[in-house]
Amino acid sequence: MSANGVVDITILGAGPAGLAAAYYAGHRDASVRIIESLEQLGGQVAAVYPEKHVYDVAGHPKVLGTKLVELCAEQGLQYGAEVRLGEEVQTLERVSQNGEELLAVGTDKGGPYLSRAMIITAGHGAFEPRKLGIDGIDEWEGKGLHYFVREKAVFQGQTCVIVGGGDSALDWTLGLQDTAQHPIALVHRRDNFRALESSVSEARALEGEGRVRIMTPCEVREVHGDGTMEAVTIENTKTGEAEQVPCQALITLLGFHSHLGAIADWGLELEGKRQIRIDPMTCETTQPRVYAAGDVAGYPGKITLITIGMGEAAIAANNAIAQIRGEKVQPKYSTD
Ligand SMILES: Cc1cc2nc3c(=O)[nH]c(=O)nc-3n(C[C@H](O)[C@H](O)[C@H](O)COP(=O)(O)OP(=O)(O)OC[C@H]3O[C@@H](n4cnc5c(N)ncnc54)[C@H](O)[C@@H]3O)c2cc1C
Repeated sequence: MSANGVVDITILGAGPAGLAAAYYAGHRDASVRIIESLEQLGGQVAAVYPEKHVYDVAGHPKVLGTKLVELCAEQGLQYGAEVRLGEEVQTLERVSQNGEELLAVGTDKGGPYLSRAMIITAGHGAFEPRKLGIDGIDEWEGKGLHYFVREKAVFQGQTCVIVGGGDSALDWTLGLQDTAQHPIALVHRRDNFRALESSVSEARALEGEGRVRIMTPCEVREVHGDGTMEAVTIENTKTGEAEQVPCQALITLLGFHSHLGAIADWGLELEGKRQIRIDPMTCETTQPRVYAAGDVAGYPGKITLITIGMGEAAIAANNAIAQIRGEKVQPKYSTD
């Protein structure tokens, strides 16, 4: 399918609700395009608590966040949905093509992406990585600055500085031990880490072997290099001493922030400040063929839980398909 080809349903956001909507749409033979602002699937579960266990998702007595995302992705993408990661949806318009009225979404990277219906599963809004407060830091993206570790091989033999005090920072300080050059510098602005105690103890043990260098309370102040990154200046905020540390890869793992952003300006009625009003019977918003499910969808008494979002995704997908095809809403069982 061409990048801008018409699909039945655009899904905005690849969290648990978006992936569930993709499953239900695919199960009904609808073509799907998912657009997600992050470079990863899984919404809040992947971005905020990948290493925590979740106990209340139907059918899973206890499941690790990352595992849940993996299972949701396997289920949701099995019918071949097109997935566009790293694109933030910004505009929604209605256009006419061959006598058919279509929804056209534009992103910060391109578009228009055309579809017959849309399901907004945007959670609390588009996630963006928190960035270091250094002037011109964005210019280092693609030249040594990383907000995620997707492929360990990228860091093979490199001098790495990891910034952060949470689980991701500690996990990758340990996880890149067999890949990056030693010592991996771990920089945190406080003396105490928020990460799991056992990970911190492991990092301290590796520090004793010269494989990790823990730098606290410290902050990265400057990036140096000519085209590609070569070093960073790290300041100890207690003593004021600054040091230049070799650095080919600066990996900042400082969490994410989210914003509903442009979606709030599409003329959809809102429920409160952060949710889009839907009719809970159909999950349709106040605009025809635009549906919403999951945390972003609001109505009186709404509970924001994964299981609820998945249920709404099923309602939204089945209603969207019925509307596109001019049929009665009729879910089909998945058993074969
Ligand atoms: C610490 C924590 C613990 C939790 N524990 C539980 C629990 O135990 N059980 C439970 O049921 N729930 C739990 N929750 C809540 C649960 O994570 C959410 O209910 C669930 O993630 C909502 O799923 P969603 O798909 O609606 O939205 P999200 O998971 O928020 O996903 C939305 C996605 O849409 C993307 N997006 C948004 N706007 C745009 C845009 N304009 N363009 C492109 N992409 C966009 C975002 O980047 C994001 O990836 C917890 C939440 C937190 C923070």
